Amino acid sequence: MNIANIDNLGNVHPDTFWWHYNLGNVRKRAFSEIWQDMSDPLMAGLKARPRKVKGRCGECSYFDICGGNTRVRAYQLTGDPWAEDPACYLNDDEIGARESRPRLSVTPYTRQRSANSL
Ligand code: SF4
Repeated sequence: MNIANIDNLGNVHPDTFWWHYNLGNVRKRAFSEIWQDMSDPLMAGLKARPRKVKGRCGECSYFDICGGNTRVRAYQLTGDPWAEDPACYLNDDEIGARESRPRLSVTPYTRQRSANSL
């Protein structure tokens, strides 16, 4: 992991997409201690090589270069940061999957129009 995020309150997050997940606060502990603390399961999992991802990401032929793509998206949509990335655009043949499985269904974001914007 090569990117960290420290918010305006000093909370350390794995990156800018994990603001709901605090690893520690730089006003209480040195950043170097927080960033190297593998007792946090998310931090340990994100720094693991290879990452222990599941589903189609775990058996993908591109996993070595992709790494399972966006873990926060898997977490937000499944509750499991190690689940497959539900937004991967490659099909099963393209990733070399041994068998096809149902994909997690996702709803594309659409902007709601208000009555005033018409
Ligand atoms: S399935 Fe998609 S997101 Fe997952 S490792 Fe392969 S290319 Fe990356």
